[in-house]
Amino acid sequence: MTTVATLGSHCALQVLKGAKDEGLGTMLVCERRRESLYRRFGFIDRIVLVDRFEDVLGERCASELRGAPGGPAVLVPHGTLVARLSPDQMESIGSPIFGNRRMLRWESDRGLKEKLMREARLPLPASVPDPSNIRTLSIAKRQGAAGGRGYFLASSGADYRAKRAALVGRGVIREGEDLYVQEYARGVLAYLQFFHSPLRGDVEFFGADQRHESDIEGLARIPAGEQDAGWTPSFNVIGNSPLVLRESLLEEAYRMGERFVEASRRLVPPGMNGPFCIEGVYGADGRFTAFEFSARIVAGTNIYMDGSPYYSLLYGEPVSMGRRIAREIKEAAAAGSLDAVAA
Ligand code: AMP
Repeated sequence: MTTVATLGSHCALQVLKGAKDEGLGTMLVCERRRESLYRRFGFIDRIVLVDRFEDVLGERCASELRGAPGGPAVLVPHGTLVARLSPDQMESIGSPIFGNRRMLRWESDRGLKEKLMREARLPLPASVPDPSNIRTLSIAKRQGAAGGRGYFLASSGADYRAKRAALVGRGVIREGEDLYVQEYARGVLAYLQFFHSPLRGDVEFFGADQRHESDIEGLARIPAGEQDAGWTPSFNVIGNSPLVLRESLLEEAYRMGERFVEASRRLVPPGMNGPFCIEGVYGADGRFTAFEFSARIVAGTNIYMDGSPYYSLLYGEPVSMGRRIAREIKEAAAAGSLDAVAA
């Protein structure tokens, strides 16, 4: 019985519940301050307490993961791992990591990210390498999985410099921090969630969600005349809600997922295995513009903890993304090919 491990944050409950439902062992690497939250849930077999998530790199955690029941635990990466560790640190982890750990570097680095999205022929907004060339409404984004915190909109170079200086002054972004600027894409936000199984050789569409971001959403509730021009709204994620796409959009969603997997095979072998997400907006013409991807499970799948509608269609039973991951691990372990799903 293989053990599934993850960090105590983001989508840990869903991942470990899914593992337990598939009959696997469960282990949580948990910051002490969050212990009481996770002790409430009976499906977590073992909690390894740490002062900071960065301690997952230390020998004590490594030996817990190595010595898990059923052989070395498989660590399921999520947004908190990407946000808290550098790509080098993630690649140095001794235990098997579900999916392809090298993909996490391509998620974290905006330049690599753009390269892979272009290779996958995803329709991207134009990037603006030199902010003084901003001519149209654009968004400045931080590197890595910042969760939208510190992002801001600017319509000119001067606007960019003023807002950036204000955020540095407030300590939201660091002096000299490298920001990525991209033209703002208008439309309906959609986060498209997929799973690629190297065992079955198939890309599955799991579902879609929308993110709710503060305080950009709050802005829409204030009449334009009363909006304070001196205020720079952020895009800090607070939660997610389900989104059902028009069925006529599904075919293209599958194609984008498949192109992404094929492109990742060429650039980051063995490519994108396991869950991933393509993030963007649908414009008025029904065309998708992709501004981002996540190369691991996204927190938006938490809305389908009891199973996504599309997985009910595929599997005939409620299957969450956490459970889908566990099923892949179980099938690979039974075939003696765990390294095909955790690299
Ligand atoms: P990201 O970290 O790239 O997922 O961006 C966080 C949030 O910023 C998204 O959920 C969107 O609300 C917004 N966003 C990012 N890039 C763009 C873009 N090019 N056009 C419009 N909104 C964007």
